[in-house]
Amino acid sequence: MENTQTIDSVCTYCGVGCDIAAHVKDNKIQKIFAHKDGVVSQGKLCIKGKYGFDFVDSKERLRIPRIKKSFLDKNPSIKEAIASSLVDLDDVWYESDLESATTAAAMKLKEIQAKYGRKSIASIGGARTSCESVYFFQKFTRHTLNSPHVDNCARVCHSPSLKGMRTTIGEGAATNPYNDIYNCEFMIVIGSNTTEAHPIIANRIVDMAQKHDNLAVFDVREIKLHRFAKYKAIMPYEANLLVLNMLAHVIISEELYDESFIAERTKGFKEFKEMILNDPYADPKYFEQIEGYEDLAKMIPKIAREYALKKSMIFWGLGITEHTDGSYAVMAITHLALMTGNIGKSGAGLMPLRGQNNVQGACDMGMLPYYDPDYQEPKEVGLMTPQLVDEMLEGRVKAVLNVGEDLTHIHPNINKVDRAIQNLELVMVQELFMTDITSKADIVIGVKSAYEKTGVYVNAMRRLHLSQPLVESDLPDDWEVLQLLDNKMGGKNAYKNSNEIWDEVREVAYRRFSGASYIRLERHRKRGLQWPVHTEDTPILHQLDFRTDDGLGEFHYHQYKLRNMVQEIVEKKERSYHLTTGRTIAMYNNAAQTKQTPSLVDRYDEDILLVNSSDADDFRGERVILRTKHGETKPLKVKFTDKVEPKALFVTFHYADSKINALFGDESDELILTAAFKSVKVEVVNI
Ligand code: SF4
Repeated sequence: MENTQTIDSVCTYCGVGCDIAAHVKDNKIQKIFAHKDGVVSQGKLCIKGKYGFDFVDSKERLRIPRIKKSFLDKNPSIKEAIASSLVDLDDVWYESDLESATTAAAMKLKEIQAKYGRKSIASIGGARTSCESVYFFQKFTRHTLNSPHVDNCARVCHSPSLKGMRTTIGEGAATNPYNDIYNCEFMIVIGSNTTEAHPIIANRIVDMAQKHDNLAVFDVREIKLHRFAKYKAIMPYEANLLVLNMLAHVIISEELYDESFIAERTKGFKEFKEMILNDPYADPKYFEQIEGYEDLAKMIPKIAREYALKKSMIFWGLGITEHTDGSYAVMAITHLALMTGNIGKSGAGLMPLRGQNNVQGACDMGMLPYYDPDYQEPKEVGLMTPQLVDEMLEGRVKAVLNVGEDLTHIHPNINKVDRAIQNLELVMVQELFMTDITSKADIVIGVKSAYEKTGVYVNAMRRLHLSQPLVESDLPDDWEVLQLLDNKMGGKNAYKNSNEIWDEVREVAYRRFSGASYIRLERHRKRGLQWPVHTEDTPILHQLDFRTDDGLGEFHYHQYKLRNMVQEIVEKKERSYHLTTGRTIAMYNNAAQTKQTPSLVDRYDEDILLVNSSDADDFRGERVILRTKHGETKPLKVKFTDKVEPKALFVTFHYADSKINALFGDESDELILTAAFKSVKVEVVNI
């Protein structure tokens, strides 16, 4: 242990944001473990947090900027300007240097601006990088490039949570700290495979469920959390809004709601009540006629009673948001809290389980087409990513800057996205490794990982954490690359370090961050500070009023419309195969980092298709192809299990080569265009 340093920081993977400590020797991470005083990690990390650090010094890291030869062949004046920097790498790429790569990008951006106008450039990315880099990315795009088109990968995950929560309670974020789970009397988990996707939060839920038998879990397939649940609710596909409205129906028809809370803190309940009582699909008895799901008719009222009469929390994930009615389902969740007063106090609240380590921060920083930093109205609203893809196909968007995001892997309808990309004149990507999008880019610039830089990250409970480097690196931070580009595009930004950017964030986004200086974040490293942070921070939101304009929570009823699946079951038609997608604990999203960690790849080296054993006759080989009208997968390895329902399929999406997202079209959330990744009818092709 001689010369070994111990450095505290935060895990780079999921939105739980576990406190870590690392042993570092000779500028190499030896070991990562849970910080002993970690308020979030509580002495435990999942396998990604614990073992997923080999990527930092992988020989595959992008260390030298690359420029595609075909790009320079099409742009001879750019080639001439940077010719002295170019070194042959292979048939496809030149290696260059940062100065020349950003010069090439700036020359092309200027040409595109002049030819197609300022809105022909779009910036997408950001939920894996620090708040400082995300803030700078949107500032550079909006102010220097003068384009309104900024978006981040919340588009494919929790944008419906932001929309649904802001519409009803004025703030799209978790209401309570994770440790408040210990003060809660009843828990509902819906659309979240928490043990795989947010394992350290799942530990708390399991602890409480084992002690108090107070957990209800809704999912379309049997998940590990069901083992600990008092109410194991297996529900049909696409039925989230249906069951959530049913819970509200029971609370209203049995008069279990909190009259004084509703009168003092909310508006619109009278109309909501009338609509729900007159909606035939909101009565849980509806399930009595649905073969295989009859139990829900009795279970839903029991869950509703416990939820309404106890201090309760609701947890949800992408199983709620990635549907065409995702935003409405989130509103239906907040309705339950508003009508029972299960919000604004310890042990009761709403917990959207955010995905990436800084997806909350990326939204807070204004990396959204319809919000400036701090969720202020922007002067000009830009387009959301699916709309930008259409603009690329139409030839109106001609350049994309993609930072820490994988446009051609994580979005739906990837065959269409691939066609759109081919229409672009410039794709510039900042990444740690070659990924799917980097292989299709014109300019690729390697940047620091979270373990090599200083920056603020906001986890799924609004907790700010000042991450500090575990090792030194001479690679640039994302904002440093963008600042070079900014200056070459006429911008005057001249930040010397991330602290200067953060100090500006505290002024611009003062409603949430005014009191969150680096010094203070360092001082409170152990507990962390939850925004809004002024003189004090705010562990529990909405204690006195909601963050809507008039401070009142709002009811917005939406009737359940997606009855096709349920109707098919009622009519006992031959059901087609439905596929849902999700994560495994060993891999992370597009696996840019986890795929570079041998011990994690050993556990999960390809996307596996789970199939109910009773459907085995339809799956004749070891591998099958799945197909929809939008595209098909590569041959997927089949695993038979009783953990998915008959005719229901499940697959992860971590490996770009599997082409899982080719199956999905443009079906998306009605309000906010988040892809409907959680349910698609598929054809099984035996090979
Ligand atoms: Fe990291 Fe998330 Fe695992 Fe915690 S739960 S160690 S933040 S990946």
